[in-house]
Amino acid sequence: MIAVLTGGTGGAKFVDGLRQVVSPEELTMIVNTGDDLLWWGLYVSPDLDSITYMLAGLLSKERGWGVKGDTFQCLQAMGELGQPIWFHAGDRDLAVHLVRSQLLAEGKTLSEATAEIASKLGVRARILPMSNSRVETRILTPIGELSFEEYFVQRWYQDPVESVRYAGSTDAEPAPGVVEAILDSEIVLLAPSNPVSSIFPILAVQGIRGALRRTKARIAAVTPIVGGAAVSGPAGILMEAQKLPVALAGVAQAYADFLDVLIADTRDQESADKLRRSSSLHVHCTNTIMRSFKERADLARAVLTFAKRETKAQLMSDSDCR
Ligand code: GDP
Repeated sequence: MIAVLTGGTGGAKFVDGLRQVVSPEELTMIVNTGDDLLWWGLYVSPDLDSITYMLAGLLSKERGWGVKGDTFQCLQAMGELGQPIWFHAGDRDLAVHLVRSQLLAEGKTLSEATAEIASKLGVRARILPMSNSRVETRILTPIGELSFEEYFVQRWYQDPVESVRYAGSTDAEPAPGVVEAILDSEIVLLAPSNPVSSIFPILAVQGIRGALRRTKARIAAVTPIVGGAAVSGPAGILMEAQKLPVALAGVAQAYADFLDVLIADTRDQESADKLRRSSSLHVHCTNTIMRSFKERADLARAVLTFAKRETKAQLMSDSDCR
């Protein structure tokens, strides 16, 4: 079994690679819900949706979010009615938000709603929200505290970030199956998702970080930072706000208490060598930029091959990036 901690965009590309090389029954996704929002009265879970659509073969490749070929007639009509339209929900996407909201209103948990939607869309991998309780990533800026989607989508991450917190995390429990998936898997993977806005909210849920420290699974992370910058989005800005270097070393530092293997990009060989010399981490270099379906599969295959190595000696020899 393989458990994957993931957010939406970078995470979904990596998940696409995994679904090309591993049978879906072997995969459990543990998904960030810190970005969830109420939109037009509906419960929207952007990362759960992206991962579900990706596994269902429905994610729009051009946009990286939403359903491929979707239309936006409702969005247009809402604009005409004077409603906010900065968060772009497509028409087919809205059907999912409606069903989820309805299931939640009937008293189902987010886990149950997620499983039901995934099953209806033909997804065979398991998709778990990190928690059934509300945990909200809040970004403190000079204009006040913003939700992640306000900061990222509405305001294009232009505001200086003073700090980040995960409201509700201290009272939140992991969703059913999350801790078990971490403890019972042979491999736990951290997708190249934004550490601060996609992975830290998962780690902030009580008991998840502890399970990662306790598990016998080999834990491997793929870096979202290449050449000293985020491949896309505000990961660098948010890492700086959390006092983490925007570098391979910062990714290692973010996960230092449980990580076994870090997958770096080939262009960061020097940083990888330095990191290997200064820590017990096994660092492996490969191309981590996923431009095509093939590059996604190649990365997933490389990560799994590396994470599956049995002995320390093999890890040591393979971790040479040259
Ligand atoms: P979000 O929930 O939509 O913000 O999505 P994620 O957190 O899963 O993905 C965003 C992160 O993915 C960013 O920090 C990017 O640096 C990273 N990312 C995006 N595409 C790639 C890629 O092709 N390769 C790598 N290594 N990282 C990527």
